[in-house]
Amino acid sequence: MAIGDFHLHSIASDGMQSPTWIMEKAAAKGVRTLALTDHDTTAGLAEARAAAARLGLRLIPGLELSTDHGKADVHLLAFGIDVQARPLQEFLSTMREGRIGRVGEIVRILAEEGAPIELARVFQIAGDATVGRPHVARALMERGHVTTVQEAFDRWLGNGKAADVPRPKQAPAEAIKTVHDNGGLVFIAHAIFIGDDYPEVVGQLAGWGADGIETYYKHYDDEQVRSHQQLADRYGLAASGGSDYHGLGNPDDREIGDIPFPDERVAAFVSYLERAGVDTGVRRDS
Ligand code: AMP
Ligand code: ZN
Ligand code: FE
Ligand code: FE
Repeated sequence: MAIGDFHLHSIASDGMQSPTWIMEKAAAKGVRTLALTDHDTTAGLAEARAAAARLGLRLIPGLELSTDHGKADVHLLAFGIDVQARPLQEFLSTMREGRIGRVGEIVRILAEEGAPIELARVFQIAGDATVGRPHVARALMERGHVTTVQEAFDRWLGNGKAADVPRPKQAPAEAIKTVHDNGGLVFIAHAIFIGDDYPEVVGQLAGWGADGIETYYKHYDDEQVRSHQQLADRYGLAASGGSDYHGLGNPDDREIGDIPFPDERVAAFVSYLERAGVDTGVRRDS
């Protein structure tokens, strides 16, 4: 078990648990420092901060942005952002609005595919959260079209499948600039999902200012960690680590903190953020 986990999702986006639950579970697992990184929103951070303070955890403000590079879906983690910054919140609202019409299109395709669900039910499941494909998967489960979230992705929603509708395109370079302009640093999430050419794309992202790469990701084995570390060294990137916990019950899920992230590398990650002067969850005004 790791003492740090810097990639976690809650009901503020497509996770199944509240920010408070995530903080309590993390503390129980021995995690001391962490980041809640919901998709395109900071809405869970106030609740998370209160729980983290009560539990003696150090919470770094974070989020995960979905961007596009050619055909590839590039996910970027932001750490240390200024949650109050207006330009950041405006950028995030635009990202979230782009997901709404997309869900309508997904539901339309699913009906054609013989798996009808109610659009209103998807929005009801999502509530105030950033709506995404996992909410659609849950509606498909409710209607008995599939028995697991994973099955919904395997049949219709996964990348390249019939109901995988793209979001409005967002350039990684612009997302990186927005995070930098609003107090944060950018780490490339689960780079291997970018596709076979991920090493080259990582180089491009580094050229556009990415600060780090998620080197210790849930199920990465030693070889994968080593190849990410080599990329980090080649492009001068720092290394982060996270479980990408959602609580959706997918077969490759890991528990919070169940990642191969050595203690000294957790410490190195946190000092990297500190040296950059971003918000690392230690109140500087007290
Ligand atoms: P979205 O933000 O709507 O594009 O959905 C992305 C989320 O869907 C990811 O954060 C995962 O939680 C989930 N997801 C994406 N691809 C898969 C897959 N192949 N199998 C299971 N879950 C997936
Ligand atoms: Zn997600
Ligand atoms: Fe992601
Ligand atoms: Fe994620």
